Amino acid sequence: MIRYCVNCDAERNLREERRRQSLVVKGDRIEFAAPVLVCEDCGETVAEPGYDDAVLQTAYDLYRERHGLLTSSKIVELRQRYAFSQRALCRLLGWGEVTIQRYEKGVIQDRAHDEVLRSLRDPRRVLELLDGDSDKLTPSERERYRERAQAILEQERSAWLLREVEGVLRYRVPDLYNGFRDFDLDRFIAVVLWFATYVERLSKTKLAKLLWLADFKNFRDHGVSITGATYARLPFGPMPDQFQLLLGLAVEAGAIMLVEESFGEYIGEVVQSLKSADDAAFEEGELAALEFVLTKFGQYSAKELSELSHKEDAWRNRAQGELISYDEAKGMRILDLSSLPNSSQQGRGHDKEE
Ligand SMILES: [Zn+2]
Repeated sequence: MIRYCVNCDAERNLREERRRQSLVVKGDRIEFAAPVLVCEDCGETVAEPGYDDAVLQTAYDLYRERHGLLTSSKIVELRQRYAFSQRALCRLLGWGEVTIQRYEKGVIQDRAHDEVLRSLRDPRRVLELLDGDSDKLTPSERERYRERAQAILEQERSAWLLREVEGVLRYRVPDLYNGFRDFDLDRFIAVVLWFATYVERLSKTKLAKLLWLADFKNFRDHGVSITGATYARLPFGPMPDQFQLLLGLAVEAGAIMLVEESFGEYIGEVVQSLKSADDAAFEEGELAALEFVLTKFGQYSAKELSELSHKEDAWRNRAQGELISYDEAKGMRILDLSSLPNSSQQGRGHDKEE
């Protein structure tokens, strides 16, 4: 490329080179490497609008990353997710017509605007804005954007639902009722899937007890639960708080399905896995706790497990519906290796279809 070099005061051949840059952005010194044009004769950098803009944009984005603000490409991505034009998005947010354009080109947004932009990740927020808008957009624009946001919401429905419920179920403070772990929906679903994979004809009530045993076994051995679930005393034994809801979420997440089956006199639901259990989701000690519970109790019926649980102080010393402290784990005879005969020869790798 031939350009005028100020230093040589002549037309010179230029080449591209990566050079260290150091710029001050809003009082912060930002250092980085970026491509620049260099005169082949004198070695000085030569200004060129395209290159200068790219250097500035890189510096602004590094500043944004350092301060936890959305980068310009993230802003573009967010806008394109809903197929908004720059101007339409400005009007919807009640901002100046060129605000978004400037942010996308590099101008750094303030924190208040950053938070507004971030909130748009949630399609429900976008729908709210579109519904609230009276004359900022034309009816046809509004309709088009609405359809798009609605389609995204449908697509991501499970993820939003799961995140929402998890947020509500978290205790925020690890204590003796969640086994010193914040409730973790992904882990809960992973354990449900694990038992659904390895236990035949797994009824919901049986699963509730296996979850309890696994969480309390892990707490007893390692001082922390696997899932962070909270358990309450119910008539047929301990059960995770919000168990029906949590199972519904495991279904929503595509991990399991609930199938009606007859258990002699009555019809009950059986938990079936829709994919393979993932051992990598667990630490070694957790896997050992799961194996222990599977080997020892995998073949017990829900009724047998219910009767066993009724002998435990963890269940007996509580009123109906009362939460069970993980502190009880150390006194649980059901978790002692020698106290019970193994229920089965069943272990991992046992073929469900046999
Ligand atoms: Zn030169």
